[in-house]
Formats: sequence, structure tokens, C-alpha cells
Amino acid sequence: MLWVAIVGLVGTVAAVALAGRRVLFLYRLATSGQPAPERVAYAKEHVGAEIRAQLVEVFGQRKLLKWTPSGTAHFFVMWAFFILATVYLEAYGALIQGAITGKPDFHIPIIGTWPILGFLQDFIAVAALIGLIAFAAIRVKNSPKKLGRGSRFSGSHLGGAWLILFMIFNVIWTMFLFRGSAVNTGNFPYKSGAFASDLVARVLPTSDVLESVGLLLHIGVMLVFLVIVVNSKHLHIFTAPLNVLFSRRPDGLGPAQPMRSNGQVLDFEEADPEVDVFGRGKISDTSWKGFLDFYTCTECGRCQSQCPAWITDKPLSPKMLILDQRDHAFAVAPYLLAGEKEKEGFSEDVLALLDKPLVGEGGVIHPDVLWSCTNCGACVEQCPVDIEHIDHILDMRRYQVMIESSFPSEAGVMLKNLENKGNPWGMSEMKRAEWIEELDFEVPVIDSTMPDDVEYLFWVGCAGALEDRAKKTTKAVAELLHIAGVKFGVLGPMEACSGDPARRLGMEFLFTMLAQQNIETLNEAGVKKIVATCPHCFNTLANEYPQLGGSYEVVHHTQLLSHLVEEGRLTPVTPIEQKITYHDPCFLGRHNKVYAQPRDIMAKVPGVQTQEMHRCKERGFCCGAGGARMWMEERIGKRINTERVDEALTTDPDTVSTACPFCLVMLGDAINEKKNAGQAKESLEVVDVAQLLIKSVKAG
Ligand code: SF4
Ligand code: SF4
Repeated sequence: MLWVAIVGLVGTVAAVALAGRRVLFLYRLATSGQPAPERVAYAKEHVGAEIRAQLVEVFGQRKLLKWTPSGTAHFFVMWAFFILATVYLEAYGALIQGAITGKPDFHIPIIGTWPILGFLQDFIAVAALIGLIAFAAIRVKNSPKKLGRGSRFSGSHLGGAWLILFMIFNVIWTMFLFRGSAVNTGNFPYKSGAFASDLVARVLPTSDVLESVGLLLHIGVMLVFLVIVVNSKHLHIFTAPLNVLFSRRPDGLGPAQPMRSNGQVLDFEEADPEVDVFGRGKISDTSWKGFLDFYTCTECGRCQSQCPAWITDKPLSPKMLILDQRDHAFAVAPYLLAGEKEKEGFSEDVLALLDKPLVGEGGVIHPDVLWSCTNCGACVEQCPVDIEHIDHILDMRRYQVMIESSFPSEAGVMLKNLENKGNPWGMSEMKRAEWIEELDFEVPVIDSTMPDDVEYLFWVGCAGALEDRAKKTTKAVAELLHIAGVKFGVLGPMEACSGDPARRLGMEFLFTMLAQQNIETLNEAGVKKIVATCPHCFNTLANEYPQLGGSYEVVHHTQLLSHLVEEGRLTPVTPIEQKITYHDPCFLGRHNKVYAQPRDIMAKVPGVQTQEMHRCKERGFCCGAGGARMWMEERIGKRINTERVDEALTTDPDTVSTACPFCLVMLGDAINEKKNAGQAKESLEVVDVAQLLIKSVKAG
């Protein structure tokens, strides 16, 4: 038996050395990137939240289990990795004990003969085997050859995935060969419980040689697998817990991250583009967390399958955005990690590769990919390993806008208008309060300090103040607050754009200017509580202004109105006999988890019959306006708003409701096109839930 131990241990040393070398390379590559001290600091400060995240996301597989049956199959295969580690402990024990005593009848101390452990090992191996069959069936059913772009695996490395399935299969059958043989030779630690091993034993001859072969094969397969894993997308087995640990909490949605250079938040007054990193222009500008994202992508394509840009035939796939950067990072890694002396001898080609722009016609990412993103967050929401696509996209946009001045020209008009007039349309600030004149009650316009009896600042937003369709929502909310007796005021001409379109386009400098100006106004006025109708303003004020010293209690109007209805301060009485389908705005739903309140309001309106679209709530589909896309032409593929309205029409609604001025405009435009084409009934309209509520609250 000595030869068995020698073969097993020599193989182990060789495989561990190979894998260790690769792990060292990956570590050096990641740490060659930008520092991200805030990630470590957060994890240290929120140990409880991080432990919970590991339990729920990694061990509990929360996101994957939403995708039955593939999630269920993955759940069992993942747990097989943990539980079958005990079988490997037994295998190495048998290897050494066999060499010392000649009888490989090792068992784990204390628990190693308990039938429950034997049962658990066999059960999870059988479950993983069934999981493998399910995986194979899913892959065949969703083959890119059959479904083209419609397959979430389109663009993934398919051969590598099949190899991994094959290796897991090898782990399982060699395990049963080893255990079944051990049952027959009397070396098996379990007298009962290991039902599958006992069954396999019945068909195997009693043979010490067969047991040794089974043992070596089982160990050998694991060692080969280990080397494959650290060189493949299956690296996520090891990196996913780390990526979850260092991801943003509660998720990579909500606030955009401040711009950082060398790990510090960039101060624009001191910043020097020659020295500081402005977003990401080259792969070496990526932070180690970005590299960890690259290592962790499992190529599952769940992000791609939900991306509105991909679904409407644009070149952006969030999966490929990560994979293309990963492939480029690996291609330049040997040069990136080279010592100073080696760098002197680099050829022109190598230098060109090192300087390859991340975004550009000949770059790693095509500009059309970068500018197709609506920041809707569907990718981040779905990613089972917490990859933060939006952070990657925003950092690349920041470099393009602020260093290269390269972005869709139409968006330049919006930036100029924001800079000069404080709103994207370039209208006079005096027009911001004109909607008030259409009301039959007073709305205080705050010009210095909030009066003591005014509870809320109503943040109207640029669209809410200046866009005709959105103004209807503004007036409805103002009327409802007035009826409910909520004291509120507005800033009128003193309000400027929250800065969301500038930030999401990548113009962080302009965002900072607008945000600082607004924060100064709000702080001087002594504002504590804000109600906003625009989910983009809501997200910016609630989640991003604290980054610049502006902290307020911010609610969306649907949250406040639903509360007022609940309290009985607003009573919907007039029936609205309509079938209504609700569209979740991405910055209200996915980014801020406000799903229930708009629905609660509609449920309280008598006569309303609601019907959900196929894609709703967490899986809602963008209207196409986010990520500053509202201010860019949509030249490629099907229009996103048309796709959304097509889906809404499948519910045959009388009305489409929403809770965002930009969704209102985008869906309204698409509905008008449908009407012109005779594909939608003339009476179909899109309204904010506040408009529905006011209609019902005002008696007949
Ligand atoms: S944020 Fe939305 S549009 Fe952008 S990549 Fe993700 S899913 Fe696609
Ligand atoms: S980014 Fe996440 S969701 Fe997308 S393919 Fe990779 S692991 Fe899957």
C-alpha cells in the first residue's frame, strides 16, 4: 500500500504547487490594481451584516434559488462541495493509514462512523448527480445554437462549462467506486446509512486492488479538478464568498459610488488629471474589487438575460462587458506584472497592448456597448455572485466624459443646459414655480428658511416642474398633500437639477457642483424631510447626497401617499373601473426596493383591477430613460420603451400606471406610436399612481 500513498501524495504536492502558482498570479494581478480601502473598512465595521450575507447569499444561494430548477440544481452541487470534503478527508486518511498499517480503514475521529454522516455524504452525491443531469438538460435546452441571442449562455465559454460538469461527474463516480470497494474489503467506516455506497458494493467484486484504484482515481480527479478550477470560470468556487464579502451592502444598486483615485475620494479642487485616476481608461485603473469581479463571473448569463439593452438587440451584454475586460486583463497580466528591467525590453506590440484603451473603436469595450446602458440594475440584481456592473460602467463613462470628452453628442446639450440653467431642458429657472399658479390653493415657495409649521420640502424635480406630462403628477401630489393636511413647501427657482443625469452620464464634476449647490440651499433652509416624485431625484437625494454632507429623511411620493391612505387621511371613494398594469421604475423598484406602496395605493382605489406584466418587481423591465439615456438617441435595435409597451399591451390594459416622470414620458411616447400605428386603443393612457389616487379621492 506504500506505492498508493506515494502516488497519491506526489500527485497532491504537484497539483497544489500548480494551483498555488496560479493563485499567487491572480493575487498579484488583482493587487496591481487600484486600492479600494473602503471595501475592507466596510466589511470590518459591519461584521454582522457580512456574516448574514455569507449565510444568505453564499450558503443559502438566495439569488440562485429564484431560478428554479437551475438554482435548485446549483444548491445541491454547491453543498456537495462542502459535504464531500469529508469524503476527501477520509480518502487522505485511508491513503496514509494504508501506508502505515497496511489496512486503509481510516475514519474521521468521533463523527466518522456515525450513520448520519455516511447517509449525508451519499445523499448529497446522488443529489449532485441529479443536479448535473439537470444542468446538462438546461444547457441543451438553452443552447446558443438553438436560441441565438435569446440564450443566456450566448457568448459564454461553453466547452469549459461542459468540462466542469464532466469533472464533477468524475468526482462522484470515483467516490462510489472507492466507497463501494471499501464496503467489500471491510474498510468502510459506516455500518449503515451510506445507502448508495452499499448498493454499489453489491455490483463490485471484493478486491484490495480495486479499492486502491478507486482511492487514487478519486483523489486524482480532485487534483486535476483543482488545477482546472483555478484556471477557469469555476474559480468562483473560491472567489464568490470573497466577492460577496467585499461587495456593496445591501447590494451594488442605489447610490453611484464617488470617484476614487488611489483609494481616496477625488476632490475636484485638488485633482490633477496628470496624476490622479479619473474613472477607468486602462485596465490597470481597475480596483482590486474590479479584478475580483472578473475572476468571479461564472458566465451564467443571468445578467444578460435581463438586460434591456441586450434584449432589444443592442451590443451591450453585461456578462460580456465583464468577460471582455477579464480576457484583456489576463492578456496583459504578464506585462503588467513584469519587473522594471523586463519592462525596458518590451516590444512596440506589447506596449500597444498595455496602453489599449478600455473604451474606443479599437478598445476593449466598444463605445456603443458603454452608452447603451440605462443603469437599470437588472444585471446587478440578478448576478448570483454580486458583480457590480454599474460601477464598472460608470467608471468607464467618467473617463470617457471627463478625460476624452467622448460621449454621444446629443448628451452634450443636456450637460450645457445643466451647467447654464440648472435643468436638462435649458429653461428659465423662473418657470419652475409656474405649475403652482394652476392650483387653487397656496404652496409656500421657500426662499430662505423652512417655516416651523412646514413638515416636508416637496422636491419637484426638473421634469416635475417643466415637463407638461410630469407636471400633472406634481399637481396631483400637491393636491393630495393639501387634502391630507400635510404642510409642505417648494424651493421653486432655488431648486436645481439633483445632478442625476450628469452623474449617470459620467460627468462627476458637474454632478458635484449641482449637488453641492442644492445641499447648501437645503441646509440653509433647515430642511429635514423631503418628498420627491422623481425616483432619480429620490435616489440621489436619499442615497448620494450623504456622500457630500447632505443627509435628509427622503421619501418617494408613493411611500408618503400610501401611508396617508393607510392612516385614513386620504380616502379614495370614486370608483375607477379600469384594468391597470403597473410599470416599476428602476430607480424606485430595483434601486430602492419600493415595490409595495404604489401597488398598495392602487389596491385601495375602488374599481381598479390590476394585472402584472410578465416582467415586474425585481425583474421589471426598464423604460429606457435611465443612465442619462433619456438624453441620447436610441439608434440601435428595438426601442426599449416600445418593447416595454408591447409587453404592457399583452395585458390588454385600459391604463398603464407608473411612478416616475421619465417612465411617464417614455411609455407615453411609445403608446402614442402604437396608437398612430393602430396597435393600441385610442383611450389607452399612461398615468402616475398619484393621478389615479387624486381622481378617486375627489368625489365624483
Ligand atoms: S444596468 Fe441595465 S442596461 Fe445596464 S448593463 Fe445592467 S441590465 Fe443592462
Ligand atoms: S456577471 Fe453575474 S449574472 Fe452575469 S454572467 Fe457573470 S456571474 Fe452570471
